[in-house]
Amino acid sequence: MSEGPALENFLAEAQDFLGSNANARGESSFVWGEGSDRVGVLEEKTPEQERAEIEEAKRWKAIEFDAGFGWITGPTEYGGRALPSNFERGYHELAAKYSTPSTTPFGISLGMVAPTILAHGIVAVREQYLKSMHRGDAIGCQLFSEPVAGSDLAGIQTRAIRDGDEWRLTGQKVWTSNAQYSDIGEIITRTSPDKPKHKGLTMFLVDMRAPGVEIRPLRQMTGGASFNEVFFEDVRVPDSHRLGDVDEGWTVALTTLMNERAAIGGGAGMGTMSMTRFFEMARHYGVDDDPLIRQSLADVYIRMSVSGYTNQRAMAKIRAGQLPGPEMSIAKLALTQNMQKVVQLVSDILGPRLVADSGDWGAYAFGELVLGVPGMRIAGGTDEVMRNIVGERVLGLPKEPKPLS
Ligand SMILES: Cc1cc2nc3c(=O)[nH]c(=O)nc-3n(C[C@H](O)[C@H](O)[C@H](O)COP(=O)(O)OP(=O)(O)OC[C@H]3O[C@@H](n4cnc5c(N)ncnc54)[C@H](O)[C@@H]3O)c2cc1C
Repeated sequence: MSEGPALENFLAEAQDFLGSNANARGESSFVWGEGSDRVGVLEEKTPEQERAEIEEAKRWKAIEFDAGFGWITGPTEYGGRALPSNFERGYHELAAKYSTPSTTPFGISLGMVAPTILAHGIVAVREQYLKSMHRGDAIGCQLFSEPVAGSDLAGIQTRAIRDGDEWRLTGQKVWTSNAQYSDIGEIITRTSPDKPKHKGLTMFLVDMRAPGVEIRPLRQMTGGASFNEVFFEDVRVPDSHRLGDVDEGWTVALTTLMNERAAIGGGAGMGTMSMTRFFEMARHYGVDDDPLIRQSLADVYIRMSVSGYTNQRAMAKIRAGQLPGPEMSIAKLALTQNMQKVVQLVSDILGPRLVADSGDWGAYAFGELVLGVPGMRIAGGTDEVMRNIVGERVLGLPKEPKPLS
């Protein structure tokens, strides 16, 4: 069968599945003052809310996977359907018309950890984790950053020492999103301290519930605690759980980081916010004829449209089978710059209502966004680091001088 009829049959099957398992969304047009006014970029939840959301997300992911829509492009031997990416896109377009549980808890797990396991894990490890991750039974987190190594990731100090068929891990990671509910972690370690720093690193998959792993929550300035410090004290990892070759962890890390930038830059980005919301806000507070506000509104509109097109170009490249590259650094940088413009715009419109709860719908609620945006400028590579990448690899500018060591 050629792809045309196959795609039609697939979409009909998807429509049947969604129609019988989820409720169709009504035509939703934004009305000022109606519904939830939450606009945060780092979600704020109590542990109870988080547990309930994860349970619901896992329930839906299992139903979706068992019906054959959990990993549409994945290899069949690991539970996928090995269909082209336009089938997956078609499914997501259909699914967006239905109300289904949020899949945010799987963002890092499926967007970054699973593609790295597929690219660098041995067959037994792919078999052990890929299906259960895509079914939502297992969740993975990213254990890269350390107190002394963030942008300069190759400076990490967590040690892994070989002990027969196992490795023993000791050290500390920090800013680990979702560690509190993850089952496995992709951890970068130093195996050869005597080699140049990029060359002595090795990547592993670690069981987050193994003896010697301690997870401590870190509270953000937004109030929630979605990331953690994770301590490793002589934690044993089988050699089979090594991703890639010994001392070749840097290459493995690059696979994860490219996927991270693609996930952040190409993702929903501004989330629940739409331009309509800002136009309505200006109207509601009677500043829609203020020339400076109108100029800011136009600026945000143009920037959001342009980065939407840039993302589409980068996504088209990924769909054509090419690796997400420096374009994703542009997408990530554009996203955080747009967010800052939005913060400035809403601050100008709302004034003191942003910091003192006046009870107005959609006013004080924006504080969560304002406090969350700096985190977005850091996560997945800081603005400054992204600018270096764009300068050097996109514009071909001379390399930044390296500090003497
Ligand atoms: C919301 C959030 C979620 C995160 N989740 C995870 C996670 O799940 N797993 C994980 O491993 N990490 C995670 N991180 C950590 C994140 O990857 C690091 O914070 C980031 O890489 C920056 O590292 P750092 O905090 O050590 O800052 P540093 O690298 O110390 O940077 C400090 C400042 O120096 C600037 N700087 C550094 N190097 C250069 C340079 N060469 N040129 C110009 N300026 C430079 C930076 O831009 C920054 O302003 C998360 C962070 C945030 C905010």
